[in-house]
Amino acid sequence: MLVGIFRPQSKFSLLCLAVLPLAVGTGCAVAPRMGVTPQRYRLDVDLNAKTHTIIGRATIDLVRTADDPLPPNAPVAVDLLLHPDLKITGVRAAGAKLRSSLSVRPNQRETNQGSVKKDANPPRRHQVLLSAPADAFTLIVDYKGKLFQDASAGEVAGQIHNLEMNAHLGVDGVYLAGGYWYPEPALPMNTGFAADFTLTSNRIPGFRLVASGETAPDLVTGDDRVAWRSPFPLQGMVLVGGAHEVHEEQYGDTTIRLHLKPEQVKHAEGLFAATRRNLDHYEPLIGDYPASEYTIVDNFFSSGFAFPTFTLLSSAVINMGERSQTAHGYLDHEMLHSWWGNSIHVDPGDGNWCEALASYGANYYGHVLDGNEDEARRKRRNFSHFLSRIKPEDDQPLGTYGQDGGCGRKIAYDKGAAVFHMLATKIGQDSFWAAMRRLTTERVGTLSSWETIRETCEKESGEDLSPFFEQWIRGAGAPLLSIEKATYSSANQSVTLTIVQPGTAFALDIPLRFRHVSGSEDVTVSIDQGSQEVTVPVHGIPQSVELDPDYHVFRKVPNEKIIPTTATTRSGTVFTSVVPDGGGDAYEGIRKVFARSFEDGERMERVAGEVEGEALSERCALILGDAARDPYISAFLSAVEFPVSFDANGFTFDGEDFMDPGDAILATAAHPGLPGGGITVVFANSVEAIPSAFAVPMYDRSVVIFKNKRAVLREDLEHRGVVIVEGS
Ligand SMILES: [Zn+2]
Repeated sequence: MLVGIFRPQSKFSLLCLAVLPLAVGTGCAVAPRMGVTPQRYRLDVDLNAKTHTIIGRATIDLVRTADDPLPPNAPVAVDLLLHPDLKITGVRAAGAKLRSSLSVRPNQRETNQGSVKKDANPPRRHQVLLSAPADAFTLIVDYKGKLFQDASAGEVAGQIHNLEMNAHLGVDGVYLAGGYWYPEPALPMNTGFAADFTLTSNRIPGFRLVASGETAPDLVTGDDRVAWRSPFPLQGMVLVGGAHEVHEEQYGDTTIRLHLKPEQVKHAEGLFAATRRNLDHYEPLIGDYPASEYTIVDNFFSSGFAFPTFTLLSSAVINMGERSQTAHGYLDHEMLHSWWGNSIHVDPGDGNWCEALASYGANYYGHVLDGNEDEARRKRRNFSHFLSRIKPEDDQPLGTYGQDGGCGRKIAYDKGAAVFHMLATKIGQDSFWAAMRRLTTERVGTLSSWETIRETCEKESGEDLSPFFEQWIRGAGAPLLSIEKATYSSANQSVTLTIVQPGTAFALDIPLRFRHVSGSEDVTVSIDQGSQEVTVPVHGIPQSVELDPDYHVFRKVPNEKIIPTTATTRSGTVFTSVVPDGGGDAYEGIRKVFARSFEDGERMERVAGEVEGEALSERCALILGDAARDPYISAFLSAVEFPVSFDANGFTFDGEDFMDPGDAILATAAHPGLPGGGITVVFANSVEAIPSAFAVPMYDRSVVIFKNKRAVLREDLEHRGVVIVEGS
């Protein structure tokens, strides 16, 4: 679900001034820093998985950036960043004169402004002194060290990315990605580059390696080394590998490879088919896949990371088999990053747009491509409901994702997808895809921003999209819309209604659905004020009107209309968990997943039989297992009209009894005493049937019924906002 993004640096300017005196202390002259950008990298490495050792040489062609005036004949410094566990063993220069050997600044660790989280292992800054500025020169840097991380340390239940990992070399696998496993020039904050890369490596016995590039046998002689060349300028080079078997097939112009564990061979055909299907679906919409090779690599820790020319899938995802191959938001999402994020790069000077676009194209539009309008509507509805329950301080503009203090992932993915749906609706779906093809034609190998997206869509549609981008990408929030009054006039055969949106007034095209005795009629009205009266001609005598019944407008809905899901319970500010007396251990993992959403002072833990009224009356609640059958809890659930009942034999939902030992349920209802809060019950007829704690938070449903841990029934408790039309 993530694209591997390189954000080379960082808070340079202030830090630099602060540490210059240290440089004097280590015996080198104080010299002004010269800004440089890499044009081309040649990386040559020798890897030893058993000893975690890397011995590398980076040959970097650099050009001076034009921004800083420097005296022509005075020494200048070039700063390089490198993983803290790697040391530089030698530096040479071509096209510039080295004034002294390298000066290393110990203890100067940088803060990496990673697009997702702070870097767990920040790099160390090294300084190369040149006798004088040079406009273009080459640095040849030799380095070595050990790269080791505990792959299990960053695993978090319920999350599919282990974000702690960035540079590891071991017998469990190789993962060298964005962890400064080769030296990178320090760049000013919020700037980036795209450079050509080549990489050669020794073969690791028993391993197959994959890098961000097309295989380039012409770069090596003999069989003991492998090589890659970037097909277009990249933001960084990534090298991964493991004890895999390689499966390969040619599909059109693309060589598809699978690097799988031997026991995963049964998934090979399904993965090939899914890859072909995704290419068939998306190439006509967004242009040809931008390289000649594409590889799916089984990964040794949990992630779905997309990198140029390959995708890492965790073993758990691959082992899901058909579901991960066909469900939207898995492989299709990662493949779309081959265009959005990994060849058309995110400009670090602006927010990250590529997750919004990949979520739109795969997680949402995949259902449209399937012709499944019910599921597409459900996605649109849930995007809106997610934002409806967000804390005000978290409701940041979509355009800030990846930047300091910017919006969170759900805004980037879900609001992002909704905003692209509105954009495509506004300019026309065909025009939108034409813009995406134009983006591929014009922008592969470059840094692109939200402004690039806007300009490209404007070129195809001929519309000025500045107001739309200001409202939805630079601005925060979404409108909370309601119809205040609707009146039918038989004389004019029209309905006059008042649409209200408190707070910031959004400019919107709002679909309305009028229902008559004989059917319904859909009309779209435009508004741009906080309270606006509109008159709509109608053909029958409407009895009711519903505002945007299919959620084409991204909007907030009132608390009481939000579909209750586990997120409702987890998004509260106070929380009580109730475990069964003497039998809570089996549910402990689920309890922890919920408890993690709350601070220490916000949580209460109770055992069934010892629950006082205040523990449940105004607090989000999680009720586990047999606690649901406790008489006091049972009375509470019935008082809040919980949709499931529990008795000695099992549970009942929607008139159906579930009595088999393999039956289990995950259900959430709105908390009537706590606006926006929820009550979740997880109940299984046997310990073996308890759903996995990892999966529970991923169900964005009110009710999920499991048979032997497999979800067999999913239901949402949706309230529709129908307004009665009065006669005049
Ligand atoms: Zn993604």
